[in-house]
Amino acid sequence: MSSQQSSPPSATGAELIAATLKHQGVKVIFGIVGIPVIEVAEACIAAGIRFLAFRNEQSAAYAASAYGYLSGQPGVCLTVGGPGVIHALAGVANAKVNCWPMVLLAGSSDTDQVDMGAFQELDQVEACKPYCKYAARPAFVDKIPATVEKAMRAALFGRPGATYVDLPADFIQYKIKDHRFVDSYSKSVPALPAAAPKTLADPQSVAQAIGLLRQAKSPLIIVGKGAAYARAENEIRQFIDKTQIPFLPTPMAKGLISDTHPLCVAAARSKALKDADVVLLLGARLNWILHYGQSPRWSNSVKFIHVDVLPEEAGNNGADTLPLVGDIQAVVSQLLSQSPLPHVPATNAYVSGLLDKVKQNVAKSLASRKKAGADNAVMNYHSAYTVIKDILPPNDVVFVSEGANTMDIARSFFDVHEPRHRLDAGTFATMGVGMGYAIAGRESFFILMFDRTMTVCPHPGNPYYFNSKSHCFVAQEYYPSKRVVSIVGDSAFGFSAMELETAVRSKLPLIILVINNNGIYHGLDNEEFEQSRRDGTLPSTALLPDTRYDLLSTAFGGKGWLVKDRVQLAKALNEALAVKDNACVINVMIAPGGRTKLEFGWMKKSDEKAKI
Ligand code: ADP
Ligand code: MG
Repeated sequence: MSSQQSSPPSATGAELIAATLKHQGVKVIFGIVGIPVIEVAEACIAAGIRFLAFRNEQSAAYAASAYGYLSGQPGVCLTVGGPGVIHALAGVANAKVNCWPMVLLAGSSDTDQVDMGAFQELDQVEACKPYCKYAARPAFVDKIPATVEKAMRAALFGRPGATYVDLPADFIQYKIKDHRFVDSYSKSVPALPAAAPKTLADPQSVAQAIGLLRQAKSPLIIVGKGAAYARAENEIRQFIDKTQIPFLPTPMAKGLISDTHPLCVAAARSKALKDADVVLLLGARLNWILHYGQSPRWSNSVKFIHVDVLPEEAGNNGADTLPLVGDIQAVVSQLLSQSPLPHVPATNAYVSGLLDKVKQNVAKSLASRKKAGADNAVMNYHSAYTVIKDILPPNDVVFVSEGANTMDIARSFFDVHEPRHRLDAGTFATMGVGMGYAIAGRESFFILMFDRTMTVCPHPGNPYYFNSKSHCFVAQEYYPSKRVVSIVGDSAFGFSAMELETAVRSKLPLIILVINNNGIYHGLDNEEFEQSRRDGTLPSTALLPDTRYDLLSTAFGGKGWLVKDRVQLAKALNEALAVKDNACVINVMIAPGGRTKLEFGWMKKSDEKAKI
């Protein structure tokens, strides 16, 4: 009898990629499959990684970028090569500009067909480089773990951003003789740590910063989405409470410290910027959102103490700056350990002036909300938002907002009380992010559980049990009232509306309020639209009047409501809140606005400035 030595089962490059991602802690991938990455996605699913299949790579990449921001771990996006990468670049650039960690993985042509006009051929490494901190193709199959590990690390460490890994078809389909190599190769590189290493600021500069704040007559703290990303809420809240320095959040930092905190001066933003003499800038850049730190929006003599992980960010646009280079959580702890700390007395005229202004502005906006008219009156932003605000649970909503007026008005209208509970068009002012962000918001709920508990017990009996296939549903069980609510303009929604199918298929109970004014910025009513179309004078901003976005949802098996007044809106929103496993679109018709002049407050150039 001859004993036959059977050879061990083989494996594929795709399985090695999946095992590598699993070892790096990847829990979910956003993407679209096709040849050759379908094998990668299937191997990932088999390895217990959730794969969320999108309908356009743009949305998948936006979702990955937002997931990176919300979870603090790189969001991973998987696409085909060529056009797939070109579409995904929208999200890659968005991640770069917002400083969010994400890794794009894409299939590419066989290495022996390079430059031959291969299927979907593109020099993807080169195409991604301008938007990525690291972009590479592994030298060979056995180098896949090292390249992926470097891409994950580069996305997370330092200033977060996007990275790219190219996966040639012949690497994906490569036959690995012995499947045991998959395990040993994938683990031949270190796993990504739970967070980037934290760096401290120069102690002398920390002492100097405290000195500046102590001497300041009108100090201000600005918290940005970098502080939210750094999960620095506890340290910053302590610093504000101890020093009594007023603060302002940037749009996505809303909720880091509750908007209703007594020292939040968001409702007196212009005055706060203008009056501040020393500003502690925590994770926000002096870009267009903060008017470049320049006059006339800021005082000519304002001094910034800029806390950022990236050294060269300090002093941008000529700002007079004391840099504190380091991780915000760590640096604010350093500031807290100084003694004595600055303390602004309640009698300080600057603070009481700001708080008075807050009171006045809040009263003004409350008064304008009362002018809603009869129950069946045509709605406007304010009357619609009043209904929405009254119904939504205040602490349990992750807001996603995009559009022009829809987003701008919603930003000041809705208070946010929890960190990382608001996503909008961001630093790049990207339209079309809404659906991807809403889906990422849902996916990140289980990260919220980790945030709260900091422990994960791998046991199904434990409420924090993590199971890649069902974590979404587990999360919903433990956060029954937590919902993602998107408040989006009709134009913005149009960029990614097809992702409704993704949401319905994945049973994600998103609530999408499409604030529909028939156009970009504003639209026309039916009569004016028809007349303009006949005359050939249809404005570039006009979209079809009364489009039934709600029917898009029902077409996919989701829920949809068309509402034209406040009573209908309230009823629809209450019904949507009761839906636990399906996407909901409420098509909120508001007054179209007509042919009014377009004006953007934030863009206003100063006439006072001489042109040299
Ligand atoms: P906002 O849009 O809220 O004004 P920005 O995106 O302009 O915020 O700025 C965020 C800043 O936060 C970036 O300059 C980024 O380098 C910085 N940042 C990100 N993570 C950290 C961290 N952990 N510690 C310090 N700074 C960080
Ligand atoms: Mg519109």
